[in-house]
Amino acid sequence: MLDDLNHGIDWQALDAAHHFHPFTDHKELHEQGVRLITSAEGVYLHDSNGNKIMDGMAGLWCVAAGYGRQDLVEAATKQMSKLAYYNTFFKTTNEPAVLLAQKISQIAPEGFEHVFFACSGSEAVDSALRTARVYWQTLGKPEKKIIIGREYGYHGSTTLGASAGGMKDMHRQGGDMPNFVQVLPPYWYGKGGQMSPEEFGLYAAKEVEKKILELGAENVAAFIGEPIQGAGGVLIPPETYWPEINRICKQYDILLIADEVICGYGRTGKWFGTDYFGIKPDMMTTAKGLTSGYLPLSAMLMNNRVADVLINETGEYYHGFTYSGHPVSCAVALKNLEILENEKLVEGATAKGALLREKLNEAVGDLPIVGEVRGVGLIGAIELTADKRTRKFFEKNGRVGAICRDHCIRNGLMMRATRDTMLFSPPLTITEAEIELFAAMAKKAFEATY
Ligand code: PLP
Repeated sequence: MLDDLNHGIDWQALDAAHHFHPFTDHKELHEQGVRLITSAEGVYLHDSNGNKIMDGMAGLWCVAAGYGRQDLVEAATKQMSKLAYYNTFFKTTNEPAVLLAQKISQIAPEGFEHVFFACSGSEAVDSALRTARVYWQTLGKPEKKIIIGREYGYHGSTTLGASAGGMKDMHRQGGDMPNFVQVLPPYWYGKGGQMSPEEFGLYAAKEVEKKILELGAENVAAFIGEPIQGAGGVLIPPETYWPEINRICKQYDILLIADEVICGYGRTGKWFGTDYFGIKPDMMTTAKGLTSGYLPLSAMLMNNRVADVLINETGEYYHGFTYSGHPVSCAVALKNLEILENEKLVEGATAKGALLREKLNEAVGDLPIVGEVRGVGLIGAIELTADKRTRKFFEKNGRVGAICRDHCIRNGLMMRATRDTMLFSPPLTITEAEIELFAAMAKKAFEATY
């Protein structure tokens, strides 16, 4: 049907007339025009102007298994023919939801046996934040309700998620609910000053402790953090950070929520960022890589400490979504996890990521504007700087990053810029030859920027 419509339509004009986009300056969009993505396979996107673009971002960090997979299409259509929809309220369930909950609990860290389904990462985060409140209320401590997050944290676009995150523009829109605070992120390159990464990791963790003492532990429900802060600039914490956060949350009896929406399902070379860093969370929020983005689905995982209270003491859990446990999304997720396992894409991300960083370092590492190439598995960033030696930022925050991003796209490579940091997270299916090409395209784009 769409193929029939593809000709003779001014897609840019039609889009401008009716389509209001997320996270977009519409005036700028209408001046510059929108790019119509028409198809994709493997790591490549195709647009209506005939361009073939390597997707260095896996969509929005989500297309782990690569584009155009018929096995995922078949899983969806098979389930859709059998049971396209039924809800999981009112004492009903469906086969894919049960099997997926079991599968997730098998790959999750020990002690995570219960899974709640929603559609988006934002909904998973919203669910975890509310669950933290329910947990403490059930235990007779309703005053424990403050959530501690971090500057540059991103926890989605619902009002609670935006309030937990550290994006100031989102706070101004009303994502500034009471009982949410943010502390220093473990962003050594930008905030580490003269400290070594290890010293700074401890220092940033101690900022959480300082905040708890200031607020009173009896008022704090949870600390929420992405194992690696993704949208905030792929901020990889020094190795001293998470062990200290584990200690602090335990000592002050504060729930620890790991927001694994980006890191989860293999991006770091482990199933979860929690496994990579040795984080000891009470809840985990996941989405994106769960279905490789083929259908919307998210999962909020609870450990037994939380689940025991919610199941045995809370009574009715007064929260849920029409599409919680959607059978078709769950069937696709099951097939997707099978692909990640069978094709060894999770463990493969470690070596591929190392190769990509090596090639990027060779390609752009010596340029004066490149401060560092960093990453874990297949998530990473290239920090642009006005002064390599002092790690100084550019005068006008984000300008050079935007120029570099545009050069990347012009050279056939989709990368994203946060401030002046260039981000990458390609599909886990990327091959060695594609990694070489990725670096070659980045070289051209970065040289043009410099
Ligand atoms: N949490 C993290 C860490 C994310 O990166 C995102 C999205 O990028 C979200 C939550 C929100 O997910 P969604 O856009 O699916 O609502």
